[in-house]
Parts: sequence; structure tokens; C-alpha cells
Amino acid sequence: MAACSPKAGGTMDFAWTAEDAAFAKELDDFLKAELPPWWRGMFTSGERGWEYTKEFCQKIAKKGWLTMAWPKEYGGGDASLWKQVIFREAMARAGEPRGSQYMNTNWIGPTIMQFGTEEQKRYHLTRISKGDVLWCQGFSEPNFGSDLASLQTRAAQDGDDYVINGQKIWTSYAERAEFCFLLARTNQDAPKHKGISVFIVPMKTRGVTVRPIMSMAGGDDFNEVFFEDVRVPRSAMLGAKDEGWRVVTAVLNFERIGLARYEAAKWAVDEVIAYAKRSETHGRSLAKDPLLRQRVADVYARYRVARALNYRLASLMSKKGESPGPADASLTRIHNILMTRRAGDLAMEALGLEGRLSEGTADAPLAGMLEYEWRKSISATIAAGTLEIQKDQVATRGLGLPR
Ligand SMILES: Cc1cc2nc3c(=O)[nH]c(=O)nc-3n(C[C@H](O)[C@H](O)[C@H](O)COP(=O)(O)OP(=O)(O)OC[C@H]3O[C@@H](n4cnc5c(N)ncnc54)[C@H](O)[C@@H]3O)c2cc1C
Repeated sequence: MAACSPKAGGTMDFAWTAEDAAFAKELDDFLKAELPPWWRGMFTSGERGWEYTKEFCQKIAKKGWLTMAWPKEYGGGDASLWKQVIFREAMARAGEPRGSQYMNTNWIGPTIMQFGTEEQKRYHLTRISKGDVLWCQGFSEPNFGSDLASLQTRAAQDGDDYVINGQKIWTSYAERAEFCFLLARTNQDAPKHKGISVFIVPMKTRGVTVRPIMSMAGGDDFNEVFFEDVRVPRSAMLGAKDEGWRVVTAVLNFERIGLARYEAAKWAVDEVIAYAKRSETHGRSLAKDPLLRQRVADVYARYRVARALNYRLASLMSKKGESPGPADASLTRIHNILMTRRAGDLAMEALGLEGRLSEGTADAPLAGMLEYEWRKSISATIAAGTLEIQKDQVATRGLGLPR
């Protein structure tokens, strides 16, 4: 283990080993040389950004970095989980040049690894490790987001097949995805958590329709997805029939801790510091404003806490090799999201009125990237389960409070 190793005497050493530090530097040098001058981040680089992220993933797959901590037999490199943490942090700092493929490596792959048949593992993990496949997540429905277990999309068995009918909503990247990681009810009579199964559905299957939704998050990433008599073979099921809730729990835990959001927020803080150093207010350097300095220090302290909590979970996972428990995953996510929100608000306030100008607007400071980061910090309080739901998880699963 690289970080957080207890030294003799019981103190914790948060430094990377020399080998890991060299890897972090190699990555940063690579990204500096690799990212094109127009690159603004995953969602702010438009159509060419999507094309680029695909090429980027294939390139880093060839370098052995994309799924480096996976077993060799499934296209990985058997690297330590810590190397993967370093990699994830570098991606977050660089505006996530993996595009939507961050999902593949953060939770889709690990979940297939935990629940898939040998055939599913060989096919899907190998594809993911080559960096040439996009996925989407079909969980939320128009009336069932937080109360996910009440979902109504049905999959009825018909011989060796299942026939799926229903609707999903807020499905990120569905328009571009090749596969959907879909939740559907396979047992109408069982209690709500007990009758759900997971299906891997090719998005080109007859009966799948995608309709984009515009939102304040910007871009064209949200969609509604309709399933009308969509027929898939039994082999498309991931995990056991009616036991999909176990899979969902693992997915959400992997997802909640998967993104190194704290590093993206730290990037925003660094940009605010650079902006303050070159700006003046009332004839004085903005960097000398005592209120701003306190706010920057406050967010930075929270960044260190969020990062330490992520490292703690990574340490637990590297020992167990499985997804973390729900209370730990939610606690870590709460800290990540709240510090991200503070960093977003800080950026908006430091930049003043101009900070409200979004990408594509003339004179938008930093091409509107901080404004975008601020909007993302708001939607992050909803994605992968709202903040209220995360707190509920900590209360019930962590502290044993009644529901
Ligand atoms: C950026 C982003 C990306 C997303 N991507 C996807 C995706 O790819 N696939 C997908 O399936 N979904 C996706 N979602 C949807 C997301 O998972 C849901 O929006 C979320 O789970 C909340 O569900 P809801 O919108 O139905 O809100 P509701 O469940 O209706 O909640 C409304 C409000 O009530 C509160 N609330 C609800 N129940 C409780 C409770 N028991 N206790 C306390 N408060 C409660 C909530 O916290 C919230 O404030 C995405 C959302 C965002 C913002």
C-alpha cells in the first residue's frame, strides 16, 4: 500500500511511495503533452470532445492504464489499487478525458467482475479494457428515483428469452451507449427489493427508443429510454434472477466513491487562487482579501478530509477486493459532494458577475469552465442518490437508527 501506511509508533504516513510518486508524475507529464489546446473537459468540449475521449481511452488502454488494477485475464495489469487511485485523480484534474468511460472502469466493470458469468466477464471486461465501448445506466424511472426498489419496468420470461417493457429517465449518455445496465422487475409478487433482476441490453435491440432531455446541466447527456417488447436472451441477465438488489447495492457503492470529485473541486480552487492573484478589488490584490482567503482555506481543509476518506475506503477495498459498505460509501460521498458545492460557490463568488457567463459567451472567465463546475456541483447533490438519501444510509446502515 502506498498511502496511509501506519509507521512504527502508530502515526500515519500519507506520502506516496517513490514508485507511485513517479507514476503520478509520468501521468501528469503525459496529460500535459497529450491533451489538445482546445480541451476544456469532458462536457465542455462539444462533439469533438466525445470523439477525442474515445481515442484517448484507446490510447491509454494500449499503455495499460485504463484498467490497470484488473486481473490480467480480463485485460487488466494486476496493478495495485493505489496506482488506480492515482490514475483516477489525474483524470479528474484533467477534466475527465475518459469521457463517459469512467463509468466502465469505476462501477460497470467491477460489478460484472463480482456477479458476471465467465462468458460475460470474458466478453464485457475485455471490451471495456480496450477502451472502445460506451455504456449507460437504466435505473431511475419517472416516479421512482430515490425509491428505486419500487421500479415498474418489467421483464417477463418467454421461453429462453425475457421481454422487457417500461421507461427509464435521466439516463446519462444513452444516445451514444452500446449497452444499457438495466434494472427490471422479474417477479410481481415478491416484496419490492426481492423481485428485481439486472439485464445487459444492447441499445440497438429492436424496441429500444432514446429521447434526449435538455437540462440546466447543459449538453445532451440526459435521456428518456423507452423499452417496448424488447427481447433479450436469458444469458443477458447479470447475477441471479430476482436478486438484482444485491447487484444494485454493489453498483451504487462503487459509483458513490468512484469519482475523484475532490480533485476536480481542488482544480476549481486552484483556478480561483490564480484568478485572485491576477485581479484587483478596490485597488488591492484580490488575493489579499481576508474573507476570500478564509473561504479558500476552508474549502482546502475540506478537500483534504474528502481525499482522506476516499483513501480510507480504497484501503479497505484493497484488503477485501469488494465494494465498500453502504454507510462508508455514503459518508465518503457526502463529504465529497459538500466540498464540491463549497468549491463551486467559492468560484462563483470570487469571479463576481462575470463568473455567471457560461461557455461559448464572449468574455466568460476561463471560457466558462468554473461556471460549468458550479452547475455540476449542484447536479452532483442528486446523481447516484441524493444527499438526503446518502444521509439516510449513514443513519440506518451505519448508526442503526430505525427507518
Ligand atoms: C447528473 C445526473 C446524472 C444522472 N444519471 C443517471 C443515470 O445515468 N441513470 C439513472 O438511472 N439515473 C440517473 N440520474 C437520476 C438520479 O439517480 C435521480 O435523479 C436521483 O436518484 C433522485 O431521484 P428523483 O429525481 O426521482 O427524485 P425524488 O426521488 O423524487 O426526490 C425528490 C426529493 O425528495 C427527497 N427525498 C426522496 N425520498 C426521500 C427520503 N426517503 N428521505 C428524505 N428525502 C427524500 C430527495 O432527496 C429529493 O430532494 C442522474 C441524475 C443526475 C442529477
